[in-house]
Amino acid sequence: MFDPVTKLKEFIRHPSVSADSRFHEGMVGARDFIAGLLSSIGFAVEVVKTPRHPIVLARRGGPDHWPHVIIYGHYDVQPADPLNLWQSAPFEPEIRGERIYGRGAADNKGPMMVHVAAVARLLEKRPDLPLRITFLIEGEEEMGSPSFPGFLAEYRDTLKKADFVFLSDTGIPNPDQVVITCGLRGLVLFDVEITGAKSDLHSGLHGGVVRNPIQALAELCASLHTPDGRVNVPGFYDDVLDVEPWEREQLAKLGGDAEAYRQFLGVPAFHTPPGYTPFECVRFLPTLEFNGIGGGYQGEGTKTVIPSKAMAKISCRLVPNQNPDRIRELLYRTVRERVPSDVTLRIIDQHEGQAYIVVPPDRSNTPRDQSPVLAKAFRATDAAVAEVFGRPPLYLREGGSVPIIAQLKQIVGLDSLMMGLFLPEDNLHAPNESFHLGVMERGIRASEKVLAALADGGR
Ligand SMILES: [Zn+2]
Repeated sequence: MFDPVTKLKEFIRHPSVSADSRFHEGMVGARDFIAGLLSSIGFAVEVVKTPRHPIVLARRGGPDHWPHVIIYGHYDVQPADPLNLWQSAPFEPEIRGERIYGRGAADNKGPMMVHVAAVARLLEKRPDLPLRITFLIEGEEEMGSPSFPGFLAEYRDTLKKADFVFLSDTGIPNPDQVVITCGLRGLVLFDVEITGAKSDLHSGLHGGVVRNPIQALAELCASLHTPDGRVNVPGFYDDVLDVEPWEREQLAKLGGDAEAYRQFLGVPAFHTPPGYTPFECVRFLPTLEFNGIGGGYQGEGTKTVIPSKAMAKISCRLVPNQNPDRIRELLYRTVRERVPSDVTLRIIDQHEGQAYIVVPPDRSNTPRDQSPVLAKAFRATDAAVAEVFGRPPLYLREGGSVPIIAQLKQIVGLDSLMMGLFLPEDNLHAPNESFHLGVMERGIRASEKVLAALADGGR
């Protein structure tokens, strides 16, 4: 019998920090471990080389009429620092109470093990299970998955024959309430640099003859929102997907105490556009934020200088149907129009990512082109979660961005079923990361039911 907790302990012992080259051995160890584990339960394993950390691709094939699910996970973890804040060694897993502690326990080794265990148990009972399964396990998620788009492009033809991607790398609010993430925000980032005179100027000798670049930048930044909190860039909201009533209902079921949220943030009041609760804003609306601003003298005391340069780092979170390239175009046009011609403007491109949405069947009135197997998977997940966790899952869009999910859709055409499993108190990316063993066991049972239902449903 497959023992997921023992296997998870073994997995955590490999310190697979992708961002730090000193952990090369840990990366190799974790990769060999997961490759060996999948091979031991009957999968044909291929280790795909990438410029940095290889991807493990493990297949269980079968005839074309069998449904085909790709299970995604990542074997890399965040650095464990600061080490002195850990109660037990980050790469020496320890069970305390109902949790297993260790770096990667929740992100993503534990949730990934949930699906490996579900598959192992299912195949133990039904060796002839009519289901094609491909595990796609990457090693660069915690460093932004730089090799992932290239890999997808190269394996596009084989991957696109699958029906959908099943994964658990998102969160839930408590051990009894599973959330299916059905939307993610996209991103557009850029820097603005404004230059006045070719060097810093004495404000006594030259003050009054040039426009101060900090003033120009501040006026530009101030112009990018309206007083009620909306982004003031013509066309910015044109393509924003409308929020459907079922989405608001699902979010309302999640509850959430706005006053407690306000106190948690430590602000005197929210600053939200009209018509949206704070919880809705995070999920349904695009934003424009200033992530950094600089220019002029920042040291102690005073300096009567007119600085030569001022800069700001700006990012937008995008929502479904907004196209990052189109938004970039609108932003740049607006910025160029609003910066006066007596200073020099430079815009520096940074990266971007598409938003993502998948609409569970039976909910939206908007018909969408989705795999029938995915529709079955949603229904099966609904039933399995309700049975195992005692209540049906909630379907929610999230405010964050998971680039690989959008890339799977853009490059390969695959939708994702994101069954959340980690809790707020699991401390992802922080000291004392842990995974709830009760959630783990229930996750395994739910995943097993979903996969069994898919196999029995045919294609
Ligand atoms: Zn993760």
